[in-house]
Amino acid sequence: MNNILEIEELRTHFDTEDGIVKAVDGINLRVREGETVCIVGESGCGKSITALSVMRLLEQDAVNVSGSVRFGDTDILSLTKPQLRSLRGNDIAMIFQEPMSSLNPVLPIGQQIMEPLMDHLKLGKKKARQKAIELISQVGISRPEQIANSYPHELSGGMLQRIMIAIAISCNPKLLIADEPTTALDVTIQAQILDMLRQIKEQSNMSILLITHDLGVVAEMADYVVVMYSGKIVEEGEVVELFERPKHPYTQGLLRSKPIVGQRQAELYSIPGQVPNPLMLKESCYFHDRCEHCMSVCTSSEPFLKQVGERQKAACWLYEEVLTHV
Ligand code: SF4
Repeated sequence: MNNILEIEELRTHFDTEDGIVKAVDGINLRVREGETVCIVGESGCGKSITALSVMRLLEQDAVNVSGSVRFGDTDILSLTKPQLRSLRGNDIAMIFQEPMSSLNPVLPIGQQIMEPLMDHLKLGKKKARQKAIELISQVGISRPEQIANSYPHELSGGMLQRIMIAIAISCNPKLLIADEPTTALDVTIQAQILDMLRQIKEQSNMSILLITHDLGVVAEMADYVVVMYSGKIVEEGEVVELFERPKHPYTQGLLRSKPIVGQRQAELYSIPGQVPNPLMLKESCYFHDRCEHCMSVCTSSEPFLKQVGERQKAACWLYEEVLTHV
């Protein structure tokens, strides 16, 4: 399988009055054709900033993005604004947690779906309208003509997210970046939306980069999982390998905090402590304050990702041979 997205040494640093916040700090990541890669971690770990950096949606004076983001042969970080607009519409689409913030409240839904069709696929008004109605129906909404004439405030959160997916897939993108797309929805609607995304992916061989804090969503959707902590990747691997044999103590903690269907648990585990202050990070394993396996080396040296399984890597001193000599 070819890689559709290749991220090398991506760094997104914010200049703040109190110092530099390294929100994403040197991550490498690949998404293969037709594969769903989930980035998981607590809030503030850098997963959303990664997605926004890939789409170049963070271009402000105080933000420094460096490294390389390749989509096929295209280096996204060096595209001009018009090239970027074309890539965003045609090849890569993005959906966010809050559909209402991406939709125009004073424009009918149908018109908002028609816009990318006319803009990027150069469809005429009549064909775009027809296609918009087909897309509304494809994302599982009945009475599509009527919905096309509705305004965003007239639809439920679940319907709006379906509309966002309709807009996202309208130009047949090769990659969909979805940032917590179901977090604001109730569990039944969440399951329906994830199911629909899976079906669309299978029909079109689209790749998905899915950002979530929810391991249930990861289990449902992922082929490959990337676990982030304090701006770094601490573990990655194929979903089965990572769920069955998590190596990094942080991943192990995340999995222990997840309720298990059919098992009575007196109290749900939660990882002790807090994510460290991004302005106070020093050379160490950033998880050391919260880790029950912490050793002296962990407090003074940063561990790097090492192969610990077939496609699995972990950044933890527990898996460094060098420790046998320490
Ligand atoms: Fe824990 Fe040390 Fe591994 Fe960090 S490097 S996760 S502190 S054992």
